[in-house]
Amino acid sequence: MKSVALFVAPLFVAACASGPPLDTRYTSAGQDSRVQFLVLHFTSSDFPSALHALTQGEVSAHYLVRDDPPTVYRLVDENRRAWHAGRSAWLGWANLNEGSIGIEIVNRGTELGDWQPYPDAQIDVVVALAKDIVKRHGIRPERIVGHSDIAPQRKLDPGPRFPWKRLADAGLIPWPDSKEVARRRRAFEQQLPEVEWFQRMLARHGFAVPVNGSLDEETVNVIAAFQMKYRPARFDGLPDAETAALVDVLVNP
Ligand SMILES: [Zn+2]
Repeated sequence: MKSVALFVAPLFVAACASGPPLDTRYTSAGQDSRVQFLVLHFTSSDFPSALHALTQGEVSAHYLVRDDPPTVYRLVDENRRAWHAGRSAWLGWANLNEGSIGIEIVNRGTELGDWQPYPDAQIDVVVALAKDIVKRHGIRPERIVGHSDIAPQRKLDPGPRFPWKRLADAGLIPWPDSKEVARRRRAFEQQLPEVEWFQRMLARHGFAVPVNGSLDEETVNVIAAFQMKYRPARFDGLPDAETAALVDVLVNP
């Protein structure tokens, strides 16, 4: 009966206000979403200020996740570009506004002095929203990143209090196996790799980082960004055995 129903159905011809009529009967197999990345931010301000900035200013994001009550606001349609990433790079891609969805999470950062925690209920909402976006667009785990990952020379958000492990537990991002990290850490404690090794590994992980063997300011900022995500207890940007083990396990699981 299905074929009969298809046979008698009228051709679906839609007319746009300005373009020619479109026949949408056929669909190409070769296609995917333009959205390749999901980028997480904090607002570094309270909700009213963030809402004002994101709706009235130049900077924008697809979603704004309020803290109290945890609420998701959609400010830009996913089919359109929001201006949240700025100058940025990850895994060899540049200017990630082009192919990303941006989520701004209300969190005051260091506005009040110390880093502000994220309420569990707010993270529950972020995880649910991220899962839905990732599923619909087929975004790969290594492409779910923080602003500090893609712009480590300029940005610290979503900051060291953002619980990335919760996203890993939800199957959203890669997370290094802790036993394997402990095992390799012991080896790295015997001999810490050269700075150039850290640079190469962090580049393979996704960062835009110089590979020059020098612990320069850019390299320190990239190491600090990595530590903020995977070892937030200390993010001084200095190479150490635990950092080496974490990036080694992530790059070579
Ligand atoms: Zn940001």
